[in-house]
Amino acid sequence: MSTTGSSYGHPVSASRRLLARVRDVMSGAAGALPAEQRLQQVVQIIAADMVAEVCSAYVRRAGDQLELFATQGLKPSAVHATRLYFGEGIIGDIAASARPFALSDAQEHPNFAYRPETGEEVYHSMMGVPVLRGGRVVGVLAVQNRTRRQYAEEEVETLQTVAMVLAELIGGGELIDQRELQPGGGQAARPLRVEGLELNGGLGIGTAVLHLPKVQVDRLVAEDPDEELSRLHAAFKSMHGELDNLLESEALAAGGEHRDVLETYRLIADDAGWLTRIEDAIGSGLTAEAAVQRVQNDIRARMGQVSDPYLRERIADLDDLAYRLIGHLVGPNGEAATEALPEKAVLIARNMGPAQLLDYDPELLVGLVLEEGSPTSHVAIIARALDIPVVGHARDVLSTIDAGDTVVVDASHGHVYLRPSADILSAFEAGLRSFQQEKERYAELRDQPAQTLDGIDVDLHINAGLMIDMPNLERSGAKGVGLFRTEVAFMARSKFLGVDEQTELYTQVLDGADGRSVVFRTLDIGGDKVLPHWGGADGENPAMGWRAIRVSLDRPALLRQQVRGMIRAAAGRELRVMFPMIAEVAEFKAARELLDKEWQRESDRGNPLPESLAVGAMLEVPSLAFQMPALLNVADFIAVGSNDLGQFLFAHDRGDPRLAGRYDMLSPIVLKFFKSVVEQCDAADVPVSLCGEMAGRPLEAMALVGVGFRRMSMAATAVGRVKAVIRSVDTAELAEYIDGLLDSPEHTIRDHLEAYAGKHDISI
Ligand code: PEP
Ligand code: MG
Repeated sequence: MSTTGSSYGHPVSASRRLLARVRDVMSGAAGALPAEQRLQQVVQIIAADMVAEVCSAYVRRAGDQLELFATQGLKPSAVHATRLYFGEGIIGDIAASARPFALSDAQEHPNFAYRPETGEEVYHSMMGVPVLRGGRVVGVLAVQNRTRRQYAEEEVETLQTVAMVLAELIGGGELIDQRELQPGGGQAARPLRVEGLELNGGLGIGTAVLHLPKVQVDRLVAEDPDEELSRLHAAFKSMHGELDNLLESEALAAGGEHRDVLETYRLIADDAGWLTRIEDAIGSGLTAEAAVQRVQNDIRARMGQVSDPYLRERIADLDDLAYRLIGHLVGPNGEAATEALPEKAVLIARNMGPAQLLDYDPELLVGLVLEEGSPTSHVAIIARALDIPVVGHARDVLSTIDAGDTVVVDASHGHVYLRPSADILSAFEAGLRSFQQEKERYAELRDQPAQTLDGIDVDLHINAGLMIDMPNLERSGAKGVGLFRTEVAFMARSKFLGVDEQTELYTQVLDGADGRSVVFRTLDIGGDKVLPHWGGADGENPAMGWRAIRVSLDRPALLRQQVRGMIRAAAGRELRVMFPMIAEVAEFKAARELLDKEWQRESDRGNPLPESLAVGAMLEVPSLAFQMPALLNVADFIAVGSNDLGQFLFAHDRGDPRLAGRYDMLSPIVLKFFKSVVEQCDAADVPVSLCGEMAGRPLEAMALVGVGFRRMSMAATAVGRVKAVIRSVDTAELAEYIDGLLDSPEHTIRDHLEAYAGKHDISI
């Protein structure tokens, strides 16, 4: 590789010379001058160096505007007077597209916006580049010439390189308030409501903390390009070594998502085009780290507009890789400063892993907002266990928010309010206060029975999936764990759990429950619950595909190992197991047979057995309801999984945002279905519970009691509010009221139930 590192010869040294002169202005004697004067000097140097009559620097202001801050050649009176919106004129086009423009006759361009105050009518050709900082446009740098001249590609590159130096000047905070420049700065003054998806309900108000990998590139201009090239090559080599080590690590040997991600990384890292572009940028006078950053700015600016999720993921991969490479050049790859959280922090991230969330002090986190994430993503699962409100699918939130902004996370409604106005903020603060008062009230209810006004006991259980959920049992005062989602532990590991590991886990869960009952649900993988080591969801419609009990029956060793672990863990205690997604009695019988075989096997070996065994079926597929009598003969208990049942009753994909809110679980159809199920279970004396999300919502919980449920399982955080509802209803009266509505052809009876609750002073 030659030191020019580029397809052109002379312009490289020209670019380096210009860069060195600009750097002198920034750091030499002139460095003491106010920033605006330094900017003025820089545009003069550029104009002279590039033999242009005009050189102008525009700086981004709030509201997506560009303000002329310095010019050589245009009328000085236009400085601070000329403003263009993003997309307005050629300057605005450069900013909006984040791409350079070079036009030999700018005035002919359809988007030319003539500004008489500038006196620019005499200049025909124009070349401009975006000034990028952290991938965001913070200004535009442009030169103009009187003649209709063609700008060479190398000149565009030179201007881009100088623009990097300007980015530091603009971002220094002296020219304008830095807040205007941070992500979302264009809208800094404006409050904004972003709609997302509830991943964990609740309300949090705090200060935005952006979870972004941070790298500090202090040295932009290099003295010796040869040295920079060898630094770059050394960094590439050690980065590759690191990737190879990761790929060879034992945990990844079985393949799966982690490995795919790293292999993709590896391919990108191997891309010769990427290296060449960085080498070219070094050729233009930048240090190796500045060159990586400059190329990454370019890539992000170019690809930032794409909406294709796959490509967006690739930008993220490249970002990660660029940070990694810069890390190898300048020292440790610093993640977001986890130690410096404000007292009430709302973490904003594109996405993150569970461990990254745990890096932050959970005591200081009042909310989490993700641009991606799904209800079953690991980070959502952990956040739920930590009682942190989470909104996911909050599109583009990172680019519309500033660190330090006030944020309201109204997770229960899937809304995020950025920079809320004073009245919105005080309304939410009042909401938060009453939320906290309610929490205290619920805490007081902890040791009170969940008993209705007419003396009926309703058993409240919690849903759990990890060991960190278990202390919630004691905290909430619930009777036990009504649903232990065993797949969660599998999702959190990088490899499949063997019998011994499972035995240990289930033992810990039972120990943690300290004598309270625990219902283990066998693996519900497939659908949206993808295991990293399982290859991933496939099929057109994974929710209705090869998942849950279907997988367990087709891979009997999986189920047998799992129940073996459970039998061993429950030795001398009660064992309760249930199977997910049972569609017909034959499936339940087949699964139970496998369990019985394992039981027999353990018994034959003389291993200690559980004291008792109860085996249940989850009612999540409507077909099973048509075999209730047969099912009730063989199942020891029934658990209605309303999340899945709801989607199958209405043929309604619960993950499709276009269908969100289309059907209501308080539809008379659903409630009538439930009532019939409960009646049949009661008649057969088989316990029935409901463990979907609706059990944790006060109005829904009231309706469930009204149709006869006496046992429910929910998120631990919901136990208090549901208990408060139960303690304020009269079941006989409520049941009669709901009965009268079950044959209604209405979409929902929600309004009626709300009115009923209001009239009877039921705290929903
Ligand atoms: C359900 O479907 O209601 C349920 C409890 O199971 P999961 O949410 O784990 O699918
Ligand atoms: Mg389910």
